[in-house]
Amino acid sequence: MLGERLGAAVIVGDNRDTTGRESDVDSGEPVDRSGVTVGLRRAAEIWSALSARPFSAEETAALLPEPDDSATLVEIARLALRSDACATGPYLHAVLDRLPSSLLRELAERAVHRLTSGPNDAAAEILAYVSVHQAESLAAHLPSLWELSPSEGFYFAEWPWRVADESEIARLWERADPDDELRRERALRCLLQTRRPDVLARLSPAEDDLHSVGYTLGGGELRRLHSASPWHLAFPADLLRRWATRNPLRAHQSSWPVASQRDPQALTSGCIDLACPRCRKRLHRLLYLPSVPPDVGVTSRARVEFVWCAECGPYTEVSYVRHDADGAPADLAMTFVVDPPERQPGLEPADEAIPATGVELVRLEQRWWWQDWAISNDRENLHRVGGEPTWIQDPDYPSCPDCADTMIAAGQVNVADLWDFEGMCYLMWCDQCAISGVVYQQT
Ligand SMILES: [Zn+2]
Ligand SMILES: [Zn+2]
Repeated sequence: MLGERLGAAVIVGDNRDTTGRESDVDSGEPVDRSGVTVGLRRAAEIWSALSARPFSAEETAALLPEPDDSATLVEIARLALRSDACATGPYLHAVLDRLPSSLLRELAERAVHRLTSGPNDAAAEILAYVSVHQAESLAAHLPSLWELSPSEGFYFAEWPWRVADESEIARLWERADPDDELRRERALRCLLQTRRPDVLARLSPAEDDLHSVGYTLGGGELRRLHSASPWHLAFPADLLRRWATRNPLRAHQSSWPVASQRDPQALTSGCIDLACPRCRKRLHRLLYLPSVPPDVGVTSRARVEFVWCAECGPYTEVSYVRHDADGAPADLAMTFVVDPPERQPGLEPADEAIPATGVELVRLEQRWWWQDWAISNDRENLHRVGGEPTWIQDPDYPSCPDCADTMIAAGQVNVADLWDFEGMCYLMWCDQCAISGVVYQQT
């Protein structure tokens, strides 16, 4: 509580220099002078170290205060905002991870205010993060963000408009003026981000644009391609510790719940007794759901097992698996981007992955329902059932090979964690045909 109280006091005023000395008082906020000064000085030292040199995740993690030290964490972000430092994202996003929602909201306000006096890297990074993890904090600032355009040209520039209300939507329609092509295109991109069926119907966007916001108009009917709220996978504590050793910024990241191991609700990794038709190696289990949650969009099977060939899969456009009446994989067919290279016998990628591991499904706080692969930067838990995929490349919802309908996203497994390699497997599903599709993406 002390941290929150101090953090709130520190962030409201902007009346100290980087050494922590008081300067012009403009906020009138009561401040614990000695305590805050110590915190400010410590924050200044940490920020100075973070911003002065190239740093690794290990070095950043070693420098950052614990999550209960909100006052120092907020002050680091505030110092970044007051500077002209570039490339602040890698440490600033880790700082924001450790802050409670109330302080994120105040930082977002400060970032918007900072941008009114010119471009600022830290402000843009804070707003990018908040547009993913707490977009509602930006609802009141959308008219300002339209003018300031902090992330112009970036793929997430229009994400704040996910929370546009009626009056902002009306403003966007007014801005979609055919006489100003650039302004019109930007307004239409913002309208797309509202993800509201009534707005999308009036926009009548191209199918690719609809996929980018998780919809399809296949068959003439607007259809959602993923559930609104994901379940995250909770892993055993020893595995989380091992991953946190590899990336220490995960240690204080609240999207990593610990599985109890008493009652695993799902299984990941390990091999199943079905061979790849191309390389004859056993297929790798991405996720076995013995009881599929009701809101994921998998209704024609009570259970389902998503698998792929870890050898051939990275070279595919899609790996399709037909499932039997019990949801078990029956056969696999792949479409390739390029032919897989010949590998030496004995090299089994699936054997290099972690063994079969019991996991649980956990509904995290709303802050983690939206995630972005790049902004996550290997800190966040991106193993999910349901929810919108966190695409590494462009959104890619394949068509079902049987009925040609666009498949829905049923989840994703960050195989980079499972086998210390890279890439994400997106788990797609056609409910009427009981066919799964695995789409693999990497940088
Ligand atoms: Zn294979
Ligand atoms: Zn189908």
